[in-house]
Amino acid sequence: AGETQTYLYDMSEGNAQMRGLLGGKGANLAQMKRLGIPVPDGFTVSTAACIATTEAGGEWPEGLWEDVLASLARLEERTGRTLGGERPLLLSVRSGAVVSMPGMMDTILNLGIGEDTVEALGAEADNPRFAWDSYRRFLQMYGEVVEGVAPHAYEDELTALKARRGVEQDTDLRTEDLQELVQTYLEVSRRELGRDLPTDPRDQLRGAISAVFNSWDTPRARVYRRANGIPDDLGTAVNVMQMVFGNRGDTSATGVCFTRNPSTGAKELYGEFLVNAQGEDVVAGIRTPKPLGEMEEVLPEAYAQLVQTMHDLEAHYKDMQDIEFTVEDGTLYLLQTRNGKRTAAAALRVARDLVEEGVLTREEALQRVEPGQLDQLLHPAIDPEHGRSPVTKGLPASPGAAVGEVVFDADTAAARGGAGEPVVLVRYETTPDDIHGVIVAQGVLTAHGGMTSHAAVVARGMGKPCVAGASGIRINTADRTLTIGEHTFAEGDLITLDGSTGEVYGEALELVPPQINEDFEAIVTWADEVRRLGVRANADTGEDAAKARELGAEGIGLCRTEHMFMASDRLPAVRQMILAETEEDRAAALETILPMQQEDFEAIFTAMRGLPVTVRLLDPPLHEFLPDLVEQSLLVQRLELTDGDPAELTTARALLGQVKRLHEQNPMLGTRGCRLAMLYPEIPEMQTRAIIRAALAVREREGETAGVEIMVPLVAYASELRAQRAVVERAVAEELESAGAELDVTVGTMIELPRAAVVADQIAQHADFFSFGTNDLTQTGIGISRDDAEGGFLSAYVSEEVIPHNPFESIDRDGVGGLVRLGAEGGRAAKPDLKLGVCGEHGGDPASIGLFEELGLSYVSCSPYRVPIARFAAARAVL
Ligand code: ADP
Ligand code: MG
Ligand code: MG
Repeated sequence: AGETQTYLYDMSEGNAQMRGLLGGKGANLAQMKRLGIPVPDGFTVSTAACIATTEAGGEWPEGLWEDVLASLARLEERTGRTLGGERPLLLSVRSGAVVSMPGMMDTILNLGIGEDTVEALGAEADNPRFAWDSYRRFLQMYGEVVEGVAPHAYEDELTALKARRGVEQDTDLRTEDLQELVQTYLEVSRRELGRDLPTDPRDQLRGAISAVFNSWDTPRARVYRRANGIPDDLGTAVNVMQMVFGNRGDTSATGVCFTRNPSTGAKELYGEFLVNAQGEDVVAGIRTPKPLGEMEEVLPEAYAQLVQTMHDLEAHYKDMQDIEFTVEDGTLYLLQTRNGKRTAAAALRVARDLVEEGVLTREEALQRVEPGQLDQLLHPAIDPEHGRSPVTKGLPASPGAAVGEVVFDADTAAARGGAGEPVVLVRYETTPDDIHGVIVAQGVLTAHGGMTSHAAVVARGMGKPCVAGASGIRINTADRTLTIGEHTFAEGDLITLDGSTGEVYGEALELVPPQINEDFEAIVTWADEVRRLGVRANADTGEDAAKARELGAEGIGLCRTEHMFMASDRLPAVRQMILAETEEDRAAALETILPMQQEDFEAIFTAMRGLPVTVRLLDPPLHEFLPDLVEQSLLVQRLELTDGDPAELTTARALLGQVKRLHEQNPMLGTRGCRLAMLYPEIPEMQTRAIIRAALAVREREGETAGVEIMVPLVAYASELRAQRAVVERAVAEELESAGAELDVTVGTMIELPRAAVVADQIAQHADFFSFGTNDLTQTGIGISRDDAEGGFLSAYVSEEVIPHNPFESIDRDGVGGLVRLGAEGGRAAKPDLKLGVCGEHGGDPASIGLFEELGLSYVSCSPYRVPIARFAAARAVL
């Protein structure tokens, strides 16, 4: 083939490091051969050949076929057999992706059997039945995989034959039966295709390799890749190997095993096998496989060798292995090994045990656990043994399980949930107004909205299970019922949500407690030794702060004060403050609020004694505190029409006037953040006083208080921060002076607008720290409204692959990440040791944490329940 690159590798040329070219399966087969483990001989067509073929629209690159023939000739030479010859060589043609995609792609077994070779094979094995069994298997596989014949076309004939013979098992069919079946299969193929299957084994080989190439791009393979974040351009390798036969009689077998239990991680024998069987028989469920332990009696020597090989492979790869094997006439062959997929609990246990066994260092062990997977462990789970069917399915928006009685509005949820009854809040969608209901509910089910919908974000933040966007549910507000398919649920009926799968059950299922066990503790503690990034939590209450500390938070990176304003006993005072027409009125309202705020801060500072707490000054989308414009207009109209209480009408009119005055077309780009504080500096002043008084009170009472960091939100101009800093510093000075006390207080700002990132050097002049508010920075940087885009074009963008993922879930590295980089560089240029943090959803996202580590930020801050994951991901980011 002259100039063309090498597409073909004999098995003896490969090793485990070559998975990019040989695929995982091919690389590991070659490695096993190197280790002296018995593996059938063969060669691998590289991923490069698959990529070249895919790019050429299915046409093979020049020279590839000649290379395949040359490799085949060498294999024939080594085995002393020939494809289609008198001493027939039979082949398996197997897909092998770079990243394992179990069962997603195609494999063809027994290639090389046909009219001319079946007798020879039977004679050689002294077992004609086995040869005919292999033949019928080949026809079915080739017809289905290469020619696209519908599987049932063959399967129906097999079932019919077994019925005619009155037998249940394939293995009960005799040679004559199988001969008859082969004839039937040939006819089925002719009928389905309108022609015969190719009979020349070289044509078949070419067809099989092409089919494996094509299986890279099937819809299911694409879906799997998207779900698992595997790139679409890696291609698959094709492994062509000599067949070994597990169907040669009672001294032959095939099976799969794990070196440890993949559910629990326990070091125990785990696997299944079948005597006189081949390939997929074990997983296909036609015959029930036997536990691996029983192999000791049936095939003692092969068994002993397998157990030893399992041990050797695990020691070599230093990880739990998932192994496929076949025994041919008493001789063991390994057909595949790979690092086994496992639950989060198993991942932790295996990693920890391997360290204790001296196989891995702690750092290596950390790399064996997927940060995202740890999520599974932080929530109560449905008992896996439940055996019930879901009534519908939505998006798995927040993991964990919730059992409770259906309620349809937040007030009912708050009343009943607050009284200790387990309730599940079911809404078309949730708004910030529902927060009180969400807080006390076991879980949330919505008909509308996606993975970053309000309900989902709030639920995740609270570690509360949520199934969102369950479009199969109908909420009938009039008669307060919920219809799912043929089931109808009244308020008070029990349902169960599985937030990890999105499944909804129409009854109460048993729950098992979250698995924060010793393994988890141990591993996250190792992570702490490795990571450079600090990990803080976002918390707005003393309770959340305490939880965060328990989960390892090293402070609070974001304490939002507007949530404190939302509580029902405060809302009237807050409204009064916003609507105040005179300074005195406003001052009066603020006087009422100050002690309430102080009380909140005291709880938080007490929980976080000795650790820093960043308090963000009020960042209000004002409309959230006010009645809706339309509703208020209607109220006024109604009062006017019904000649209602004149005093009530006057108040309602005044309120309407204010609502109109404050009404904004784009409240999210309106009087938010420091903009309100610039208009009414008495608000940040009051907040600062409350903060300082709280800090001093806690120090007085507890002997120690939290480190106070005051943060100004939504700054775009350096002059805003300069002005706000002056207000804050003055209030701090006055409070400290009147208390006769001293306290270190730092003042910093959020960087959450593109302009702020660009002029970060100017802003840094007035800042002791920056905290990147990546939620708003995503919203303003890309120009996507976080509350509206969901379900609309953004979902379409993700599913159509216009963009790789939802930028609110995982940071947009190039764009928004670029703004963070700019802000960090600008800030540091002005102040080399400026502290740089991140708050917002991305602070708990492992992929985003990787970027923040690269940028050398100081800490990330995330919701309390994600703290262990962030600690772990921060360690992974430096390894
Ligand atoms: P998958 O990726 O779907 O597991 P494989 O390529 O591993 O597909 O093949 C599936 C099964 O086919 C294997 O588990 C094994 O039982 C059987 N098989 C593959 N190659 C051979 C071979 N050379 N000899 C005997 N059986 C084989
Ligand atoms: Mg396999
Ligand atoms: Mg913000």
